[in-house]
Amino acid sequence: MLRYNELLSGHTSFRIGGPAYYWAEPENIESVLEAVSLAEDKNKRLLVVGKGTNLLVKDEGFDGVIISLAGDFEKIEKGQGGSIKAGAGASVSKLVKYAFEEGLGGCEFLSGIPGSLGGAIFMNAGVRAIDSPDKFEEIKDILTSLEALDLKDKKIKILDRKDVDFGYRHSGLSEKIILGARFSLKKDKKENIRERISAFNKKREWLAKIGFPNAGSIFKNPASNKPAGMLIESCGLKGKRIGGAEISSAHANVIMNVGKATAKDVLSLMDLARIQVKQKFGIDLEPELKIV
Ligand SMILES: Cc1cc2nc3c(=O)[nH]c(=O)nc-3n(C[C@H](O)[C@H](O)[C@H](O)COP(=O)(O)OP(=O)(O)OC[C@H]3O[C@@H](n4cnc5c(N)ncnc54)[C@H](O)[C@@H]3O)c2cc1C
Repeated sequence: MLRYNELLSGHTSFRIGGPAYYWAEPENIESVLEAVSLAEDKNKRLLVVGKGTNLLVKDEGFDGVIISLAGDFEKIEKGQGGSIKAGAGASVSKLVKYAFEEGLGGCEFLSGIPGSLGGAIFMNAGVRAIDSPDKFEEIKDILTSLEALDLKDKKIKILDRKDVDFGYRHSGLSEKIILGARFSLKKDKKENIRERISAFNKKREWLAKIGFPNAGSIFKNPASNKPAGMLIESCGLKGKRIGGAEISSAHANVIMNVGKATAKDVLSLMDLARIQVKQKFGIDLEPELKIV
């Protein structure tokens, strides 16, 4: 499926963003290759997105072809042993639910993280561990391999987890379209899995208080022991508003679209936070969300 001049505000959790030249929802690999060729033929940029939960799309939009994987890429199936094979277009919540139903544990930490598996792998999505908050549980920990279309030579490649440069909210997979992945999970009792899902959901209860469209954490936590939210809060910026964008009073590392916010409003608030944190603490904040 291909749509021209598609408004991206309808495809981002922020509800912000101008139009895309073309919006493609390929349901199989042939259609993905067609969308890639379309971008080349029209001399346009190409971008693959998931569910848009970590994106800030500029007000002028994206003058290129956007691919959002659908159809075959949303399937999840059981492999051998404790393995699960999933398409990159499937939602993270679908994987968590599927694993629970199959009595496979290990991905409970993903419960409540919005978005697609492709986006989660690209971002190496994760959360702080429940019992040891200094540690992170990240999607790379359960990934065995992934299938990706290499945009340099248009070949589909299988990449072993150890061949991917995973880091904190980083995968280095920029010249590739992630098509699917295999995860390694462990057989467990459903009540144990349910308990862990509840524990992770409990940790995320504060998110429900946000109440307005947002894109989760705006900045990465710096290497210092103070998280980005605490640094921004210490600058007195909770509740600070520019246009329709506001720094959340529930968590200072979240910017909300409280009504017709533009990308410019959000970027201005981000600049303000970055400048004040730098002045007060000498720390450079780096955006976590992807600006398109
Ligand atoms: C309320 C809220 C809570 C959140 N909580 C967390 C959290 O606890 N932990 C966490 O890590 N994140 C969190 N996030 C951020 C976000 O949900 C994750 O980063 C998520 O994994 C992004 O997935 P997505 O499908 O929405 O990706 P998108 O936002 O659509 O894209 C993100 C990036 O991934 C790339 N990408 C997407 N799909 C593919 C693909 N198939 N191939 C190659 N590149 C691709 C895009 O080009 C883009 O650069 C939260 C966001 C919100 C709104």
